[in-house]
Amino acid sequence: MRTQVAIVGAGPAGLLLSHLLHLRGISSVVLEARGRDYVQKRVRAGVLEQGTVDTLVAAGAGERLLGEGMVHHGIELRFGGQGHRIAFERLVPGRAITVYGQQEVVKDLIAARLAAGGQILFGVSDVAPEGFDTPHPEVSFTRDTKRHTLHCDYIAGCDGFHGVCRDAIPAGVLKYFDREYPFGWIGVLAAVAPSTQELIYASNERGFALHSMRSPELSRFYLQVAADEDIAAWSDERIWAELRARLETVPGWQLSTGPVLEKGVTAMRSFVAEPMQFGRLFLAGDAAHIVPPTGAKGLNLAAFDVTILTEALAAWYSGGDRTLLDRYSAACLRRVWRVQQFSWWMTTLLHTFEHSDPYDRRLQQSYLDYVCGSDAASTSLAENYVGLGPP
Ligand SMILES: Cc1cc2nc3c(=O)[nH]c(=O)nc-3n(C[C@H](O)[C@H](O)[C@H](O)COP(=O)(O)OP(=O)(O)OC[C@H]3O[C@@H](n4cnc5c(N)ncnc54)[C@H](O)[C@@H]3O)c2cc1C
Repeated sequence: MRTQVAIVGAGPAGLLLSHLLHLRGISSVVLEARGRDYVQKRVRAGVLEQGTVDTLVAAGAGERLLGEGMVHHGIELRFGGQGHRIAFERLVPGRAITVYGQQEVVKDLIAARLAAGGQILFGVSDVAPEGFDTPHPEVSFTRDTKRHTLHCDYIAGCDGFHGVCRDAIPAGVLKYFDREYPFGWIGVLAAVAPSTQELIYASNERGFALHSMRSPELSRFYLQVAADEDIAAWSDERIWAELRARLETVPGWQLSTGPVLEKGVTAMRSFVAEPMQFGRLFLAGDAAHIVPPTGAKGLNLAAFDVTILTEALAAWYSGGDRTLLDRYSAACLRRVWRVQQFSWWMTTLLHTFEHSDPYDRRLQQSYLDYVCGSDAASTSLAENYVGLGPP
């Protein structure tokens, strides 16, 4: 088998890269460990920056997104018994976020790839990227009990945080930066209409809570819990009681409840691998970096990386110019670190830290007051949240 770019992973990064390359006349094959059904049902992120929406629409994968995505012009920060709206339309005019589930983005991209004759090989195993420090890289893998080799010019490692591509780079090349947070999130998907028009980020003595949504009939909730929390200890009744305690803090506001469709614990971690390339292997998305989901950035950053990689590969294929490929990591890392700082800051601002003393809590409250009371501070939050412009 031969292609120009071998892509490992059919998450948002790998699928979008494959489609953007196709639109530039560059062939690719996507190798995915899981089945199609599984990746299309994996509930994760749901907040798209304007730039991500624009990229999906321009790529021809935005029809359903434009019809069903919910455009939001603000978020609410809830603390001290009051809600404080961060009004994007006033602070960052013309920019908004769109609420649309990651699994819907994945479905749309798979449909777009297959309609264009794209190759996605689901259910492969033992994927091994090799020879990427030579002009002849290849990826070997097992499919239907047979071993295959995909020869290519470049390999894109879009295989998420637990993938194989990052670890295939020789020891000592990459430098890792990370931070583990002393808490996790329970994520809940419930069949109930959202009790709010816009996302609510609640800072509470009992811990952080987030009220998000996926559609007019589906709500998504998050609760700060211990990092090693056992989901079995959280009955649906306990989840609703805790959400009420953390969210029903504003006079007259009530949380609607309904059947819980899915619940699970997500670890909170920040991580960056530098550089994001070695020889002819390029890392993109969660394979290279992760952020705690507080700032809703992981999926958006994955989309950003692959737009940079597409431009670099297109320049190489059209005229043999390696300049952008050589600069890929540096071009991405500038945005990666902005997003790292923003996600860390949102996390630190809104969560309860077990060992924080009363002084720390007062500092947090003072900053929350400042963010909501000062246009300068709330504009900074708003412009990072909706996503900064192109590099
Ligand atoms: C459990 C979880 C919950 C999340 N929740 C939120 C959220 O609520 N809000 C938010 O903003 N962000 C959230 N995120 C972050 C966001 O979903 C990610 O940033 C986004 O999925 C990154 O896309 P990606 O394509 O880089 O990686 P992924 O989506 O992880 O895709 C990687 C793909 O590679 C495949 N793969 C892995 N290993 C191999 C291999 N060896 N061979 C072949 N294929 C392989 C995987 O099956 C997967 O399909 C969450 C992430 C996780 C892991």
